[in-house]
Amino acid sequence: MRIFKGIAASEGLSKGKALLHVRSSMVAEKQHIMAKDVQGELQKIHKAVERSKKALEEHQGPDISAEPAEILQTHLMMLSDPEYLGQIAQYISTNLVCAQWAVEAVTESMVSLLESSSDEMLKERSVDFRDVSLHLLDALSNRSQRTVKNLTEDVILVADSLMPSELFSMDKSHILGIALDGGGRASHVAILVRAFNIPSVIALGSASQKVHDGDEIIVDGNYGEVFVRPDLTAAQNLNERYARWQAHEQELRQMIDLPTRMTDGHEVLLKANLQTVSEIGSAKEVGASGVGLFRSEFLFMDSVGGSTEEQQFEAYKEVIEAMAPLPVTIRTIDVGGDKVVPGMGIDEKNPILGWRAVRFCLSRKDIFSVQLRALLRASVYGKLQIMFPMISGVEELNAVLHLLEHVKEECRTEQIPFDPDIKVGTMIEVPSAALCADILAKKVDFFSIGTNDLIQYTIAVDRGNEKIAHLFQPFHPGVLRSLQMIVEKAHQENIPVSLCGEMASDPLCSVLLAGLGMDELSMGSQSLLQVRKILRDVSFAEAKQLADHVMEMDSYLTITTYIREWMHDRFDHFTTI
Ligand code: PEP
Ligand code: MG
Repeated sequence: MRIFKGIAASEGLSKGKALLHVRSSMVAEKQHIMAKDVQGELQKIHKAVERSKKALEEHQGPDISAEPAEILQTHLMMLSDPEYLGQIAQYISTNLVCAQWAVEAVTESMVSLLESSSDEMLKERSVDFRDVSLHLLDALSNRSQRTVKNLTEDVILVADSLMPSELFSMDKSHILGIALDGGGRASHVAILVRAFNIPSVIALGSASQKVHDGDEIIVDGNYGEVFVRPDLTAAQNLNERYARWQAHEQELRQMIDLPTRMTDGHEVLLKANLQTVSEIGSAKEVGASGVGLFRSEFLFMDSVGGSTEEQQFEAYKEVIEAMAPLPVTIRTIDVGGDKVVPGMGIDEKNPILGWRAVRFCLSRKDIFSVQLRALLRASVYGKLQIMFPMISGVEELNAVLHLLEHVKEECRTEQIPFDPDIKVGTMIEVPSAALCADILAKKVDFFSIGTNDLIQYTIAVDRGNEKIAHLFQPFHPGVLRSLQMIVEKAHQENIPVSLCGEMASDPLCSVLLAGLGMDELSMGSQSLLQVRKILRDVSFAEAKQLADHVMEMDSYLTITTYIREWMHDRFDHFTTI
C-alpha cells in the first residue's frame, strides 16, 4: 500500500480502479532511426491518422452543438491536409527520426509560423494544430484519450494535470474520484470537480507515476489522501471515516431552511456559485439566497451548452427562472488564463497575465455583444444582475458599461424587452481595481471580490501551481488589508460587497469575512450549509472583534494559527469536513 497526501479539493470518499491519464507520457518519445526503418515510421503515421480520424468521427452526431461540430470538422480536415502530413513524412526521411518526434517538430514549426501571423484567423489555427498533433501522438503511443470520453465502467481518474476543457469532455458519470498530481485549491479544475461533486485530491506531486492502470485506489477528498492498493486495515479505517462524514453531512442538513443570521441578528447572505445549468438543483437544495456567481464561460466549453445567442439565452433564462424571485448574478465570459476554449484563438506564453476576461471581450466585441444581448433578453424572467470579470481600472469599466448601454439601445430599437432596473457590478480581483475601489464603487451597483485571482495577483502566486501552493495564503496581511479596504470603499458609496472566491467556502475564513463586513458570500453549494452553521453560532460583534484583532498582526502564519485556535476554542468540534 502507498499513501499520498495532497490538497482536499472536493469532499467525499470513493474507491475504485485506477485509470491513468498522464500527459507527460504523451510527450513525444524522441528516437533516431536507421534509413531502413523510415518506411515503418511512415506506416505508423498512416495508421495514426486513420485511428485519429476514426476517434474524431465517433464524436460527430446529432447531439453535438454547432461550435464543437465545427471544430471537429476542422480537425478532420487537418488530418487529411497533404501539406501537414507531407511535411511530417519529409521530416522523418530527412532527419531519420521516429514518427512522434516528427509530428511534434513539424507541429511546433507550423504553430510558431501561424502565431507570428498578423491575421487573427491564422493565429487561431495554431490551437487546432496543437490539438490535432495530440490526437496523432495519442494514436502513435497507442494511448487513447477516448477511454476517458467513452467510459464503460466506473474508474478513479489518476492524472498528472487536467485542463478544465478536458474535464468537460470526459464522461463524468463513470468517474468516481480524481487524484491529480498538480493544481491548487483555487484552480478552475478544482472548482469544477467540486461543482461536479467528484471526490478529489489534487497537488499530489508525483502520485501518477506510482500508479498503474487497474490499481485499487481510495480517494479521500475530505482529508486530502489517496491510498494506492490499500490494505485491509486502511480500508476499514476509511469506512469509519466515511460514516463520520455522513453523520456530519446529515447534521448540516438541519440548516437548509434557516437564514444565515448571526446571534445578534446581523445577516450575511449566502449564495451559490454555478458553473453549469445542471447545478441549479444543488443550489436550491441547500437554500442558497440566490446565485452570486454564474461562470458563463463554461457554457462555451460544454459541448451540450453551446454559445450562440439563442443557446446562451436559453441557459441564462433557465437559471434566472429557476431561482426567481431570488437574484442571479451572471458573470460575463472569463475565458483565457487556464480556461482555454478551443476555437477562440487563445494560446499564450503567459496566459494568467494575458488576454483574459474583459480584455478578451473588449477586443472581441462580436462575441461580447451577443452575450450581453442574450443576458438582457433573459433578464425579464426573474432578477438578473450582470457582473464583469478582471476589471483593472476605470477605463475598462467605462468601456464595458458603454457597450452594455449600446446593446440596451439596440434592444430598445428592436423592441426587445429587458429589465430596465438590471443591476450591474464589477468583480474586484485585480490589485489595481482593489486600490481604485473608491473610484469604481461610484460607477456600479455592487462589488464581488474574486479572491482566487486577487490572492494570485497580490502575492504573485499562480493559483494552479502545486509547487507554490503553500504561498497561496488567504490570510496574508496584504490580502486582508485589500479586503478591508474594498469593503470600506464600497460601503462609503452604499453598495454591497459579495465575496465569491474559494475563500468564501472555507469554514476557517467564515467568521473573519463576516467580521470584515462582507454582505454576501458566494460559494459552491457543497460548502454552504457548513458556513451557515458556523455563522449562526457567533455574533457580528465577536466577528468584528476577531477581524480587528487579526488586522493588527504582521504575518499569515500568526493570523492562521490565531484563527485556527479561535475557531477550535469557539466551536466544540470545529472541523473543516
Ligand atoms: C475569483 O477569481 O475568485 C473568481 C471567483 O473567479 P474565477 O475563480 O472564475 O477566476
Ligand atoms: Mg477570477
